[in-house]
Amino acid sequence: MTIEHPDPGPHAVARHLAEIVGEAHVASGLRISDDDTHDECLTVDPVRPLAVVRPATTTEVAAVVSHCDGHGITVTARGGGTGLSGACVGHHAGIVVAFDRMASVIEVDVADQMAVVQPGVTLARLDEILAPYGLFYPVQPGEASATVGGTVATNAGGMRAVRFGVTRNHVVGLELVLASGTVLRCGGRLAKISTGYDLTQLVIGSEGTLALVTEVTIRLQRRPTAQSTLLVPFGDLPTLAAAIAPLVASGVEPSMLEYVDLLSMAGITRAAGIELGVEPAVSERSSAYLLVGLQSRDPGQLDDDAAVVGTVLGHHGALEVYVLPPSAGAALVEARERAFFAAKAAGADDIVDVVVPRSAIPDLLARAADLAAGSGTLVTGCGHVGDGNVHLSVFQPDKSIRSRLLDQIFTYAVELGGAVSGEHGIGRAKQAAFAALADPAHVSLLRQIKQVFDPRGTLGPGVGPVAAPVSAPPRL
Ligand SMILES: Cc1cc2nc3c(=O)[nH]c(=O)nc-3n(C[C@H](O)[C@H](O)[C@H](O)COP(=O)(O)OP(=O)(O)OC[C@H]3O[C@@H](n4cnc5c(N)ncnc54)[C@H](O)[C@@H]3O)c2cc1C
Repeated sequence: MTIEHPDPGPHAVARHLAEIVGEAHVASGLRISDDDTHDECLTVDPVRPLAVVRPATTTEVAAVVSHCDGHGITVTARGGGTGLSGACVGHHAGIVVAFDRMASVIEVDVADQMAVVQPGVTLARLDEILAPYGLFYPVQPGEASATVGGTVATNAGGMRAVRFGVTRNHVVGLELVLASGTVLRCGGRLAKISTGYDLTQLVIGSEGTLALVTEVTIRLQRRPTAQSTLLVPFGDLPTLAAAIAPLVASGVEPSMLEYVDLLSMAGITRAAGIELGVEPAVSERSSAYLLVGLQSRDPGQLDDDAAVVGTVLGHHGALEVYVLPPSAGAALVEARERAFFAAKAAGADDIVDVVVPRSAIPDLLARAADLAAGSGTLVTGCGHVGDGNVHLSVFQPDKSIRSRLLDQIFTYAVELGGAVSGEHGIGRAKQAAFAALADPAHVSLLRQIKQVFDPRGTLGPGVGPVAAPVSAPPRL
């Protein structure tokens, strides 16, 4: 249900919000920075909201949200703005709540190996704080300026998910501000809990559409002391993809299993200014690369694991297995993390993620290549092949051809038992694809959940699998 209110105008909105957070922490009109109008998604246009508000406390968040809910003003949460689905892009008739003033690590609980953090803390800062304790937080999407709040809201994955799992495997408690302004705590510093419906898990991945997250309790891991990166060229992508299942079955638990196709590898190494160092006799036969990460607290174990990886992949089509020197390994992993920006700089028209069961990756990649060729589109890719998550860079300026191609790829992924996103979320970019392929009974239940949490459609307007209706734009 959408409740219509008289248009308060941007200045009145900003004035009211300034009474809550202080004048210095509200921007409206031209004072809104361009940075606050977009994320990294290539297909969602920037939007200038009525105001951008920067609260410092949960009480301020609650007062802002309650004011907005009562006055028909929508609220979009914003973390680091690194999202790839347009989910933190505000609405012109609503405000954006940015969490960069709520960026503290409240406590590192060494005994329980947990930490309590504010949502605006970046993953880079969190890692700096945890390092002296010999602990780390395994959630690592490719962009360390992402915030804990943003990663909770997207259920972020990343390269380490193949070994450690995704955000929902590491978040044990949340403090939430509901659309009504009510503050609620769920979960806690508990390794296990069985008290009925799990609100913590429901809110994880909800893209700021059910509640705003104002505090997060996370489980930590002991920091690995030894790591190694292996570069493994293959003659073709299907052979690489087919080698993943036997590698996983070998019992080695890689901390990273990334595939990079030939064009993407050329793009990321050129962008990073690095040479792969693969001998010409191998490189001229290579058209796909696997990066294998190994981590341990025991260097001996690392050598044993590397030997197993070499043997298994050697039996399954690897042309060679290179154990990279640490600095070269780190540079290549960083270049892979920047693959999005390399593809963007090369003129990609869209960059999407899609996920299938790990064993279905060869089928998905083969069909995507056929469909791309049939539509005259260049599709290159890389991704978290160990957890079935493929990232495709699509070079096709014609929007209707591109949409048709992506629809076909998503449809095939769902037929294979997959989903339209493994980690980037639905946001504003994938609503049509989700709606076209989802079970109507599932969508209906999601709608009812949204209605219970946010009856007026205040949170995350236009975002997520069952986007809330938004009221008419105010006059600017
Ligand atoms: C180069 C690059 C590589 C990437 N690699 C990966 C990857 O490997 N894996 C992966 O999962 N993602 C990846 N991403 C995407 C992105 O980093 C993640 O989606 C990340 O979780 C977004 O965090 P953020 O803080 O930037 O959130 P934002 O983009 O600011 O927001 C994302 C969502 O979170 C909501 N939100 C933010 N804060 C709160 C809060 N406090 N309460 C409620 N909702 C909130 C927003 O409303 C929005 O719906 C990559 C992005 C880039 C640019």
